[in-house]
Amino acid sequence: MPGFEWIGEDERAALNALMDEGGVFFAHGFDGKRKAYHVRELEAQFCDQMSLGNALCVSSGTAAIKVALKAMGVKAGDEVITQCFNFVAGLEAIVDCGATPVIAGSDATLNMDPAQLEGLITEKTACIMPVHMLGVPAKMDEINAIAKAHNIPVLEDACEAVGAKYGGQFVGAVGDFGVFSLDYGKMITSGEGGLVIAKTQDDANTARYYHDHGHMNLPDRPRGRDKAAMPGYNCRMSELNAVVGKVQLGKLQRICDETKQRYMALHKGLADVLGERAYPREIPANSEPTYDTYIFGTQDDALRLAVIDHLTTAGFGTKNLPDAMEWHCSVYWEHFDFDVKTPPALATQTLLLEQVAIPVMLGIEVSAYEKLGQDLAALIRA
Ligand SMILES: *Cc1c(COP(=O)(O)O)cnc(C)c1O
Repeated sequence: MPGFEWIGEDERAALNALMDEGGVFFAHGFDGKRKAYHVRELEAQFCDQMSLGNALCVSSGTAAIKVALKAMGVKAGDEVITQCFNFVAGLEAIVDCGATPVIAGSDATLNMDPAQLEGLITEKTACIMPVHMLGVPAKMDEINAIAKAHNIPVLEDACEAVGAKYGGQFVGAVGDFGVFSLDYGKMITSGEGGLVIAKTQDDANTARYYHDHGHMNLPDRPRGRDKAAMPGYNCRMSELNAVVGKVQLGKLQRICDETKQRYMALHKGLADVLGERAYPREIPANSEPTYDTYIFGTQDDALRLAVIDHLTTAGFGTKNLPDAMEWHCSVYWEHFDFDVKTPPALATQTLLLEQVAIPVMLGIEVSAYEKLGQDLAALIRA
C-alpha cells in the first residue's frame, strides 16, 4: 500500500527524462527515436533485485494472472483451486480462461488452508492458486508438496506481497508461476502494471508470446515481419508505467524496512495482550511478510467495534477488513456462475468477519503506531 505515499520528484524526473529521450511510450521498436527500453529494463531490475530467473511486465496484476493461467494451458472445463480470502481479480482471470473456480477456506494465516486441498483436487484441477493476502505468505511448502504429488502447477498470487519472502526466497518465485501487481494501492506502484514470473524458461516464453499477440519478437526480423508462436492478446506494459516502476522498485527495500519499523512499534503494545480475547494472525515461521498491514481477530463484537471506532477517530482507518469485505471474500461474489456459498467459504467468511486490518502507512510516525499499540492494548485488556 505505501508506494504511492512516496511518489515525488524522482518519479517526475523519470517521466520528464522519458519525454526528453524522444517520448516513445511503446515497449517495442521505434529504435531511432529512443535511448532505452524501459519495460525491458524494469524486468531486468526485478530479476536482479529479487534473484528471479525471468520476469515479464504486463498491464496489470489481473492481466498477469490471466497470462500465467494461459501460459500453463488452463482452458474451458478446467478447475482452478484458489482461496476464499482473495481479491475478485483472480476469479475474473480464471473465469476469463473458461475455467471454474474452486474455493478453499483459510487457516489461521487467513490464506489457503493446505489441509483442505486434497479434498478439492479432481481430475479437472489444472492449477492451484494460493494468494498471499495483505503481505503475509501462504504456507507454500505444504501447498507445493500436495500440488507436486498430483502434478498440478502452482500459481502464487503475490499481488499484495511484493517484497515478502518465504523460505528465504521472494514470494512469486516459490511456485511454478507467480504474479505481482503494481497498481496504485500496492507495495510499489507504476500507476497500473503487473509482473509474471515463471519457473521454467519454456513457461516464461509462452507467457511472453501470449501477452503480446503471440509475437516471438525474433531479433532478425522487423516487428511487421515477426512470427506468431500462438494466438495471444495485448497485456503489454507501457514505457510510461515502466519508468515510474523502475524508480519505485528502487525504493522497495526502504519501504519494507520503514513499514516493518511501524508494524513492530504497534506490535510492541499488542504482543502481550493478543491471546484469548483477541488473537493474532498466524504468520508462517519461515516467512517474512511485507508488514504493511497489521491484523488481529476477536469474537467479541463489542470489542471489535470499539477497536474499529478507535482506529477511525484516531485517523488510521482499517484496510479491507472489514471496510471492503465484499471485494475480498468469495462468498459475496454471486455475480459469478459458481457455488460461492460452500461450507469452507462460509467458515472463512465467519473468520474474516472477526478480523480488523490496520494499514501501516509511511506518512504516519513510528511513535504514533507505538501509541496506537498501547491504546488498543488498553481496549483489549478492559
Ligand atoms: C490488486 C490485486 C490483484 C490485481 O491487480 P491489479 O494490478 O489491480 O489488476 C490481484 N490479486 C490480488 C490479491 C490483488 O490484491
